[in-house]
Amino acid sequence: MRGIFGCVRMAEKFLPHYAEGEVVKGFGRGSKELGIPTANFPENVVEKLPADMPTGVYYGWANVDGGEVHKMCMSVGWNPYYKNTKKTMETHIMHKFQDDFYGSRLKVVMVGYIRPMSTFASLDELITAIKNDISESDRKLEEPKMQHYKVNNFFASS
Ligand code: ADP
Ligand code: MG
Repeated sequence: MRGIFGCVRMAEKFLPHYAEGEVVKGFGRGSKELGIPTANFPENVVEKLPADMPTGVYYGWANVDGGEVHKMCMSVGWNPYYKNTKKTMETHIMHKFQDDFYGSRLKVVMVGYIRPMSTFASLDELITAIKNDISESDRKLEEPKMQHYKVNNFFASS
């Protein structure tokens, strides 16, 4: 098995990765109920991920319908709905939105990798892990080299 640093190096080969597409309905796994909603990309966007890019938790920047650019944390994982033959990209934007934005155009740039996917013994452990991912993303995105991706033509153009 590859250690965590090996995974990070593997993932970094594919970064930054830019993606954009419509926000679609996810699988109702209740992310919002946990206070951590994740906006899902449709299949055609997920398919553009390089095949060798590791699954796991990434962080970066995102905007919705050309709006303000916010920090984000994203999980790239295997989709149980398709018997783990397809991937999902689920983006939690670190901003409080007034309303849902299904059907909107989501743009993201993935700039860093935190950890591979793992299974958790309990829901509490899962929530703790996600909260750690969010605070680590928050901290890493303060670094000057990461801030530079926030101010980017990609987000300005429609
Ligand atoms: P689904 O299973 O449909 O993805 P979620 O419980 O994960 O449902 O909620 C995701 C939806 O919540 C998004 O598609 C979006 O419309 C809305 N939403 C509201 N605030 C956020 C946020 N900060 N980050 C991501 N999605 C958000
Ligand atoms: Mg979701």
